[in-house]
Amino acid sequence: MWPPTTLPLVLHIPHAGTAIPSAVLDQFLSLEQIHQTVFDLTDWYTNELFRIPGCLRVETPISRVVVDTERYIDDALESAARFGQGVIYTHTHTHTHTDTDTDTQSHSHSHSHSHSHTTLPLRRRASRPLRRKISEEERTELLNQYYTPWHLKLGNDVEEQRNRFGYCVIIDCHSFPSIPLPTEVSSLNPRPDICIGTSSTNTPSWLEDAMLSGFRKLGYRCESNAPFSGSMVPSKFEGDPNVLSVMIEINRDLYLEPEDKIHSFASNRRLTLNHSENSPSQSPLVGNAALTERFTAPQNQNHSESQELGTIRQPKKGERFELLRNQITALLLAIAQEAECRLGQ
Ligand SMILES: [Zn+2]
Repeated sequence: MWPPTTLPLVLHIPHAGTAIPSAVLDQFLSLEQIHQTVFDLTDWYTNELFRIPGCLRVETPISRVVVDTERYIDDALESAARFGQGVIYTHTHTHTHTDTDTDTQSHSHSHSHSHSHTTLPLRRRASRPLRRKISEEERTELLNQYYTPWHLKLGNDVEEQRNRFGYCVIIDCHSFPSIPLPTEVSSLNPRPDICIGTSSTNTPSWLEDAMLSGFRKLGYRCESNAPFSGSMVPSKFEGDPNVLSVMIEINRDLYLEPEDKIHSFASNRRLTLNHSENSPSQSPLVGNAALTERFTAPQNQNHSESQELGTIRQPKKGERFELLRNQITALLLAIAQEAECRLGQ
């Protein structure tokens, strides 16, 4: 288990999970497509890169492909819903035909609740369907199972840290592929090593500066709010001077094996399927303990992942993985210290 909380940080890690619970598998159109989508869209190993003892953590073994907790619940507010990747994905990130249209009309804005993958300029082309049409009841069930408890836990953790320390720093932890997804239009080429995202209401300039200069001193190419922008802040804490938030997006080229930098969406290669040994079923969870269990379980724990689906292929960690993890840990400890100096009682 984690040691007792000693740091005023909440690590928000929404995209490290890869599990597709068997209960929702029938919503998807093809097993192969699930494998490719999960492989391409998972923020691989961010639950390990941001493994800092003494913090509160919000994480899940469930894939974002099931429900993306970093999206607005209302598709009308969510720019990614335009290409079928709102809170509940209906389409993949690949396209049904060869692209000829490169509509570059920008659609970029920063908001504090949602972030990054939703705040990009997006190409308007036909994405490939991923999911069958689901009923209102199925949508409600997905949100009740995976979205609402996530945000309750996030809100509770922030509150708990603020009560304990007088303030709290949310670290919104992500990674991104070095090649833009087909659904993105990126003017940045090459993409930076690290992208820092800020909230207009909850990221003071000292926090943004400390992140940028901290990573730059280590030799990384850093950008602020490019190619992704924003940082997660629960709406009830928007503008709270004692609740800070900053997003860290790590380029996956920094920490994955070279062979796994060949992205399937770019190379169109087929993924190898392995079959898992067991698939224990998950009993319904309720209450706060259940929230903690559901969202802090190690990623490799098998959450009733379907045998039919098989094991999602994982990219290999590169040789710089441990170094990067140590650097992130050291930087976040320094951030916690700086926050203590500025906000501590
Ligand atoms: Zn992410």
